[in-house]
Amino acid sequence: MSVFDRLEAEYEEVVFFHDPPTGLRAIVAIHSTHLGPALGGTRFYPFESEDDALKDVLRLARGMTYKAAAAGLDLGGGKAVIIGDPKRIKSEELLRAYGRFIESLGGRYITAEDIGTTGDDMDMIRRETRYVTGVSPELGGSGDPSPVTAYGVLLGMRACAEEAWGEHSLAGRRVAVQGVGKVGYHLVKHLLEEGARVVVSDVDVDAVGRAVRDFGVETTETEKIHATDCDVFAPCALGAVIRDDTLPELKCRVVAGSANNQLERPEHGEALAEMGIVYAPDYVINAGGLINVADELQGYDPNRARARVDSIYRNVRQIFEVARDRHISTAAAADAFAVERIGKIGRVRLTWVPGGRGWARIWAR
Ligand code: NAD
Repeated sequence: MSVFDRLEAEYEEVVFFHDPPTGLRAIVAIHSTHLGPALGGTRFYPFESEDDALKDVLRLARGMTYKAAAAGLDLGGGKAVIIGDPKRIKSEELLRAYGRFIESLGGRYITAEDIGTTGDDMDMIRRETRYVTGVSPELGGSGDPSPVTAYGVLLGMRACAEEAWGEHSLAGRRVAVQGVGKVGYHLVKHLLEEGARVVVSDVDVDAVGRAVRDFGVETTETEKIHATDCDVFAPCALGAVIRDDTLPELKCRVVAGSANNQLERPEHGEALAEMGIVYAPDYVINAGGLINVADELQGYDPNRARARVDSIYRNVRQIFEVARDRHISTAAAADAFAVERIGKIGRVRLTWVPGGRGWARIWAR
């Protein structure tokens, strides 16, 4: 299939960049700038082929549009990939060449950390462009987003508790957390403070060891945590954990966690709804990290960022209302909510700028 066929009518722009002296091969996909500049991280990964890299960047860019829209941000969706093994080819000159490339896009795309890139990398990229977030606090950045993401997941989980049991608190509930990495670890801490009982699993024995040592939590087998007897299953590791073989084994009333792309296929969202399981759509509940880095665009203020993350509780509840009103799954409701906001606000933002050369978006002035 040709690149143009793949972009359909959906994507605004896809840019390829090659800098042979540094070995940099990057693709930026801008899915939508209807609500504002497209913000999304840079994934640095040894893709098996250029085709795989393109497929991934397109899929991820679209996801960012929905996430930003559902979070109520004035941001569009985009994503970038750098093809190659970061352990082998990452260098100052490569990152700075990449920064020049981002700069050349004139702010239509703003980057951040993702798999294979770190806050230090963002600091390096910052030397060449303003269009980067997730830089270190010394440079006015917000640092590691994971604790904020975990806090947002806790708020979304409370909204789920209201939906499932009519109770705001998770006290006394048994929560199974799959993956106690950067987000899962902080989530466990919040849950215990709230009085929940927590069971964890992780393929990394050090990560499990840290959770047991610091919190004294119960552990279970990694392959079976989704089937644990619990009130809430919190996927905080991988995507596609809700699928044909895991669905019949779920014993929880709520699925709410930080992992991206928890549903293997959209119909798995319908299946959860049919089973009476309350599902907090992943990109709504895990938006805390995005909301936090987005705050850097106005000069990072941790208190303001935290207050904005509080909106996740409201957003998750709103999705539940849409789902109830329209008799659709919460996954479908989140998509509908995001698309409708893009339609309504995107139209408002296309405004006549006096003295301009035509219709221009306000943010681009
Ligand atoms: P991380 O890599 O720090 O943690 C993931 C943990 O999951 C690791 O400890 C890993 O060993 C473990 N894991 C991997 N496979 C597993 C399995 N089969 N069973 C149990 N554990 C397994 O990543 P993170 O930053 O904590 O992110 C967790 C998830 O949340 C990812 O899907 C990520 O995309 C998503 N997310 C993270 C943020 C953020 O701010 N960090 C924001 C939004 C979404």
